[in-house]
Amino acid sequence: MDVLREKGITDEQVLAAMNNIPRHFFLDSAFDEIAYEDRAFPISQGQTISQPYTVAYQTQLLQVRPYDKILEIGTGSIYQATVLAEMGVKVFTIERQKLLFEKTRQYVFKHKYPNLKFFFGDGYEGLPTYAPFDKVIITAAAPFIPPKLIAQLKPGGVMVIPVDEGEHQRMLRITRHIDGTTSEEAFKNFSFVPMLSGRNG
Ligand code: SAH
Repeated sequence: MDVLREKGITDEQVLAAMNNIPRHFFLDSAFDEIAYEDRAFPISQGQTISQPYTVAYQTQLLQVRPYDKILEIGTGSIYQATVLAEMGVKVFTIERQKLLFEKTRQYVFKHKYPNLKFFFGDGYEGLPTYAPFDKVIITAAAPFIPPKLIAQLKPGGVMVIPVDEGEHQRMLRITRHIDGTTSEEAFKNFSFVPMLSGRNG
């Protein structure tokens, strides 16, 4: 976690959660040796588990509070969702790839995190049945800010989303105000796999 601290992650709650989660459970066993290096790895279906720094950065921007209800788009390896669940909040995570979603049935920490729920679907639609959310986190490169996800935010709620700018994505934090308007803060650039529409499988 010293690496994350050196790179500017200061939220102790985020650092503690990440320290408590064995990352190698989220990778194919071929990567055991290098699981703790600060880099992204392939999982199945051409997708990746985000680099620890990216997970820490997005989680820090979310400013997680006790009792938050958080929607994640892009379950992937379940690592990011587990970091949030470890922080004690309610997590709803959506994956569009059927095979990745099916892997969540064998999730090793199922009993440890009853506050983490998995959904198969298109993240652009969000989860109207469970809305509104305090926070929304998108872990794939979004071509635009999905309007339905803004609509599922509580007043005062925030979304952390990497939005395409050609070669890379700019990390944005959108705040939805009580009058329904939004404001936007821009942070660093990252590189994510694309947020695709529709379900696959
Ligand atoms: N949060 C993940 C990151 C996985 S990479 C982790 O911690 O490992 C991004 C994931 O987003 C991929 O699994 C991809 O299939 C998924 N994805 C892309 N577009 C999506 C969409 N519209 N709805 C839901 N998931 C999507």
